Amino acid sequence: METAGQPALNVLQSIFGYDAFRHNQQAIVEHVISGGDALVLMPTGGGKSLCYQIPALVRSGTAVVVSPLIALMQDQVMALKQLGVKAAFLNSSLSAAQARDVEQQLEAGQIDLLYVAPERLLGERMLSFLERLPVALFAIDEAHCVSQWGHDFRPEYQQLRILHERFPNVPRIALTATADKRTRIEIIEQLKLQGAEVYLNSFDRHNIFYAIAEARQAKQQLWDFIQNQHANDAGIVYCLSRKKVEATAQWLSEQGRIALPYHAGLPAELRAHTQQRFLREEGIIIVATIAFGMGIDKPDVRFVAHLNLPKNIEAYYQETGRAGRDGLPANAWMAYGLQDVITLRQFMQDSQAPELIKRVEHHKLEAMLGLCELITCRRHALLAYFDEDAPEKCGQCDNCVNPPENFDATEVAQKALSCVYRTEQRFGVTYLIDILLGTDDDRIKANQHDQISTFGIGTELNATQWRGIFRQLIATGYLDIDISRYGALRLTEKCRAILRSEQTLLLRKQQDRKATTKAGKKQASVRPQDEKLWEALRQCRSDIAHKNGVPPYVIFHDATLQEMCRYRPKDLAAMQRISGVGEQKLNHYGHVFLEVIQQHPLSELLNNGLSDTINDTLLLHEKGHAVDAIAKQRDLKLNTVYSHLAEGINAGLLDVKEVLDLDSAEIEAITLTIESLGDESQSLKVIYQALDEVYDYGSIRCVLASLY
Ligand SMILES: [Zn+2]
Repeated sequence: METAGQPALNVLQSIFGYDAFRHNQQAIVEHVISGGDALVLMPTGGGKSLCYQIPALVRSGTAVVVSPLIALMQDQVMALKQLGVKAAFLNSSLSAAQARDVEQQLEAGQIDLLYVAPERLLGERMLSFLERLPVALFAIDEAHCVSQWGHDFRPEYQQLRILHERFPNVPRIALTATADKRTRIEIIEQLKLQGAEVYLNSFDRHNIFYAIAEARQAKQQLWDFIQNQHANDAGIVYCLSRKKVEATAQWLSEQGRIALPYHAGLPAELRAHTQQRFLREEGIIIVATIAFGMGIDKPDVRFVAHLNLPKNIEAYYQETGRAGRDGLPANAWMAYGLQDVITLRQFMQDSQAPELIKRVEHHKLEAMLGLCELITCRRHALLAYFDEDAPEKCGQCDNCVNPPENFDATEVAQKALSCVYRTEQRFGVTYLIDILLGTDDDRIKANQHDQISTFGIGTELNATQWRGIFRQLIATGYLDIDISRYGALRLTEKCRAILRSEQTLLLRKQQDRKATTKAGKKQASVRPQDEKLWEALRQCRSDIAHKNGVPPYVIFHDATLQEMCRYRPKDLAAMQRISGVGEQKLNHYGHVFLEVIQQHPLSELLNNGLSDTINDTLLLHEKGHAVDAIAKQRDLKLNTVYSHLAEGINAGLLDVKEVLDLDSAEIEAITLTIESLGDESQSLKVIYQALDEVYDYGSIRCVLASLY
């Protein structure tokens, strides 16, 4: 018997241009090709769509893909057409004539993948039409929309169970990126997938760096983060309110970035236009309420920033998950403060939801706060929340890279808590801090709170530090906010032990502002010497995309262009070996990109496998900068620059004579000294002294490099 594997691999390589399957894609694809049902749980960016697109092309007939959003369908069809795949969609955006045209192509067997909205599919007319066609499979994308508990609930999704009754012999594959167990069980029940094979992948988004900072001057912190790490990148900034969205977008625009606001209060055409620009142009920042996101399948979003606290970990995971779908490094950054906690609590208490739901929401917010105040690995905690066991340290979050310190906060907590108690649990944070600091204030005097024992006992901290203490006491459940009394703080049961000194309380030491904005190291996308080519390739991609009316990533992903920089293919055969270059794209664009590569040759000096920092130095050296000028420009020690040049000499790329400002006789003298020292010449210091301390260590290092 022939296995399903070979044809599937052929399709993967020739059409999609990838060498090998990732994760458990292969098992899924083979299972569906051989006619089995499947439920696939895979994080965004894991290559979910290939799991049904490949079986669709291998099995005979048309595959029907159910998708909840028009924008998403259009993106997918556009991308498939670029690959030379016969794909189409049926939804309300088509005129009657266009829809008829698609139906005719379907009858003629000219379509391999049909994307359709659930309400369209479920009409009797469509169902009987499909019964007359050979259907290869049904793929139900975003399958979590069946869950009435989730925020993407679509009632029509629940009716999709009818597919099982009407088409008992057609395999069904349901896919989702939603992690929690309850949704999983609901999908199986609602879609009658009891017999389906379940493929559960890790929900770890390994390429995302998580960082959560305390908000001090949140806007400025955001700008530092964007400017330092994403000066030209596309990203999303989430805010809680429309007003803040507008203000933040304007502020970022004033700083010189293209930042567009997006929220439900803006006209539909403007929102559609904004979304298009985000997809089609490079480097756009969207500032949005949570209304923005679902249906945006842009792979090269390099950062997601939160200027407010999401209301639960599910939302945080989903929103940050929009970064880095292409698998390249991306940042999830957040600044949050005391006001966020108060606002969210207020939302919840004001909501009309039944008591039970309110209680669940409250617990979820507690968990989110827990994640923020955590001093151990963020990723570990995030995955643990979704019942996934991950290593204790990921090395890819702020707490791993820059471990926060604890301090014994029992005494300051006692002061804060007794201040709440002495003022009869009737006041908010600002007032309480004024008392602790002993502020001269009329309201305090009128209330005679300048007479109580806690007045002025907290001068060891400033107001900002006290806000941090109160935030942590609220976040960790020692204090509660009484929203019905304008945010007055109340003591909880939990704080008794602290007030009686029966328990020590450890809190997170507040870092200075600079430290908190230090998220991941900036990761260069290409080697320094490839930057010009990288820009040129991106420009070429933009031009082609513009001409074809598609987003740039539909032509080639960043990762594909980066590989072109690294391997610099010289002909079509070499170009085809680049990951992401399939047959159709090779035929259409191969020559154009080869030409760009040819126009940006690499000098002999820079064609090397040395590290980026060495190449940065070599690049400046090639431009004729002197050693001290390079050191100054790169903010490095002279010695470091010499050691970089020495690496170049050692690799045979540079001649010691062109590096050092010494004549041949001097170099000869140094060489002779080194040789006369024999074994001892391994020590720079010995050589330095043997040469009567005339020549610096850098020069010696370079001559030494030329000898071995
Ligand atoms: Zn970590």
